[in-house]
Amino acid sequence: MMRSHLIKPILDEEYKQISHGSGVYLYDTDGKKYLDGSSGAVTCSIGHGVKEVINAMHDQAKKVSFVYRSQFTNEPAERLAEKLAQLAPGDLNWSFFVNSGSEATETAMKIAIQYWQEKGKHQKSKILSRWMSYHGITIGSLSLSGHTERRARFVPLLDANPVISPPYCYRCPFDRTYPGCQLKCATELETAINRIGSDHIAAFVVEPLVGAAGGAIVPPAGYYEKIRDICDRNQILLIADEVMTGIGRTGKMFAMEHWSVQPDIIALGKGLSAGYTPIAATLVSDSIIEPILTGSKLIMSGHTYSANPQSAAVALAVLTYIEKHSLVEASHSKGIFLLNELQQFKKKFTIVGDVRGKGLLIGIEFVSNTNTKLPFKKDCKVTNLVIKQAQINGLLIYPSTAGIEGVSGDAILVAPPLTITETEMNELIYLLYKTIKEVEDSLQV
Ligand code: PLP
Repeated sequence: MMRSHLIKPILDEEYKQISHGSGVYLYDTDGKKYLDGSSGAVTCSIGHGVKEVINAMHDQAKKVSFVYRSQFTNEPAERLAEKLAQLAPGDLNWSFFVNSGSEATETAMKIAIQYWQEKGKHQKSKILSRWMSYHGITIGSLSLSGHTERRARFVPLLDANPVISPPYCYRCPFDRTYPGCQLKCATELETAINRIGSDHIAAFVVEPLVGAAGGAIVPPAGYYEKIRDICDRNQILLIADEVMTGIGRTGKMFAMEHWSVQPDIIALGKGLSAGYTPIAATLVSDSIIEPILTGSKLIMSGHTYSANPQSAAVALAVLTYIEKHSLVEASHSKGIFLLNELQQFKKKFTIVGDVRGKGLLIGIEFVSNTNTKLPFKKDCKVTNLVIKQAQINGLLIYPSTAGIEGVSGDAILVAPPLTITETEMNELIYLLYKTIKEVEDSLQV
């Protein structure tokens, strides 16, 4: 075999090559078929090879693929911003386009800081976040991320720091139970604000459901209402990082709609183009843009490929497809079925501790003992074992972390394309059952 010069996530590991995809399936160059049970990285939410998107891509390429946003605007980017303004809750009417989720959260940080500067509050520059979170891999977005492993190597470069605990009822950080806990995980934000001083804080950022760093953690009822109230009373903006949860993934167009809480800024990525091209967005409310419009009139961020017509045309085609096929509603109803079926795994396996999620974003947390909830020792690498065994069985799922402080626990995300049929969901359930059974047997627990 020819030596590869491609830097892969794990350099010395052998990777299969994918030749093509169709619907919920991917095929490798050896002809093996995989059910894409995680939409890649929770991204390909309308499945692979959708003709309408390919046609839109082709049509736009025939017109123009790139214009520089500082010289010109373009029709697809204008239409995409219009569409997102229609879809987004409340007055989140403004879109700033970037290329990745990391850039979207980083832009959100910058806009939040700039907002307060335009209002003359130059000291309000800290962005607070939670442990067990992932907001991206660039230095700014990694600063916000409470993902201990991904931070470790770069700590000297990381400026902001997560300050509060996640709303993680399965392992309550305060050893309490809901509702007697009185949402201490939310009120901890106020304690942190009092310690740091609200005069120094621009915003608080959350993933509506904790994804890669928590295995689809769903906060308890009332949590976000309380968070919104604390932010308002302390004049702190609320940023929702909907890079993973947005565009229908959890059964609502935006996950924050589950709690009827409107953030001031939303970061989008992944599902926005369903993986057909790189594009992401930072959505901003009228009230945030207003002082910038009347002030410096310029958002100090952006990239060469920001708002390029090619990616915008693709994202528009994806949103049209999602609406035409009622995929947000489908995500809700299919999610109820899949979550219910996967929750049966808690009775069938001794290593399945918790199954949780909303819509088609479902997390499974593995434990060495379901009574004590003790995570497996790190060197067991249970997540890896499950991911690899699933791949052997022709099923793709997404690795996650969970457990005590999110450093020593194992979890996976099940997040198939929203287009998945009932037959395909049954195939997914069967393949995942077979996989976990094989791993559990190999662990001899
Ligand atoms: N925010 C969240 C919630 C994510 O899940 C991710 C990626 O997994 C990101 C941000 C970073 O997005 P990207 O990998 O596109 O930079």
